[in-house]
Amino acid sequence: MTKTLLAALFITLLSGAAGAHDEPAPAVSGSAMTATLVRIRDAAVVSDYAYRQTAMLSDEVGPRLTGSKGAAEAVKRVAAELRALGLEVKLEPVKVPHWVRGEETAALVDWNNRAEGLSHKLAITALGGSVATPKKGIRAEVVPVRDFAELTALGRENISGKIVLFTAAFDEQMAAAGRAGDAYGGAVAYRGLGASKAAALGAVAAINRSAGPIGNHQPHTGALRYADGVAKVPAAAIAAEDSLLIERLAAKGKVTMQLLLTPQTLPDTDSFNVVADLKGRELPDEIVLVSGHLDSWDLGTGAQDDATGVAAAMHVAATLKTLGLTPRRTIRVVAWMNEENGLKGGTSYAELHTGDIAKHIAALEMDYGSGHPTGFAANVTPATLPLLKPIGEVLSGIGAGIVDFRLTGVGADIGPLNKLGVPGFAPLTDGRDYFTIHHTAADTLDKVNPRFLAENAAVLSVLAYALAEGEPLPRLPVTP
Ligand SMILES: [Zn+2]
Repeated sequence: MTKTLLAALFITLLSGAAGAHDEPAPAVSGSAMTATLVRIRDAAVVSDYAYRQTAMLSDEVGPRLTGSKGAAEAVKRVAAELRALGLEVKLEPVKVPHWVRGEETAALVDWNNRAEGLSHKLAITALGGSVATPKKGIRAEVVPVRDFAELTALGRENISGKIVLFTAAFDEQMAAAGRAGDAYGGAVAYRGLGASKAAALGAVAAINRSAGPIGNHQPHTGALRYADGVAKVPAAAIAAEDSLLIERLAAKGKVTMQLLLTPQTLPDTDSFNVVADLKGRELPDEIVLVSGHLDSWDLGTGAQDDATGVAAAMHVAATLKTLGLTPRRTIRVVAWMNEENGLKGGTSYAELHTGDIAKHIAALEMDYGSGHPTGFAANVTPATLPLLKPIGEVLSGIGAGIVDFRLTGVGADIGPLNKLGVPGFAPLTDGRDYFTIHHTAADTLDKVNPRFLAENAAVLSVLAYALAEGEPLPRLPVTP
């Protein structure tokens, strides 16, 4: 790190008291900037603000599936809280899908060597967007397949009229090695695409082994994507334990499942992104956006996914207000709607702000739980990395000094902004335990460690303030 680069990032900081003096405010040195960032870090990390907001969203509001009362209430409460902090708050309209879960039951009703009267109740949950089964349910043979290649190899003659079970496991070794996101990425393809791939060969329903570790007999929900031109069949996830049971029984003979799902897709409805500005003192039109998503799945209370992200973004504004710091650029706190089953909040924002996209200096999102952060991930150009190093050095004081260069996006909702050239950032959170509860009924406040959450909020606070003070970062290449 050269002094010149440090200066390039920090040269433009004016002290918070600059306005009190009549003479022109001097640019301050890197060390003064560092001292300010250390103050922000230390104030953020001892505050329980984000934890209290997480409790408000998860305990007092509860599940916040897009289109639900909980989602609407969360919009109101977060907007009110950000107004109370003194931010300029707008609700930006977003048209969103409205899917509601109904009944969901499944049982194995026949297998090789079953005694009369025995059945196995399964831990099952419909995937977001799934169509319903007929009212009486579906009774059909279950065919386990490891992957899409095996499905294709089995062909229509073995799949038609059957329920396909995708048995691909979440790679727990990969997760234990710190690559939980990659493990999830490997498993989640079957949740997303399985229904249409199976239906294309005549399957009557598709089930996937939950995209998460085995352990608590919990099914993980999540969105599916039906392909155009293929029949829509009911789709659900079952607990890993049940998937393994079916595999073992199917190895010995035919297995029959009774499946009932009664979800409904209602007409699209009106919702909002909450957009709240802590106005910049010098360049108020230029924006550093810091965000999490307000909607959640409906099984748990969306504490880790993603009340903590919204709360940590709010924590940035609360910390700066507490310290009496006004950033040079505007820090914009955004609580996104509909990350989970449509991404309409993120895409609508990018469309609405096409005209001022060049004024968006950076976009931050936290959406990976709130385990201890070891640093931050940066979707930036390689030339940007040296500029970020001083920020990492400040964060190393709380064990969060890693600057992890990423070629790909670091948050779903900010993805559309990244594609338009806006650099993206996210806390580099320890996600080893995250997928145990992610999208399950166990995503509740008790899983949130208040200290680790405050550390993540400190990462966002330091990063957002530094980026709001420094020279604009190089833009990402614009991609389709
Ligand atoms: Zn999320």
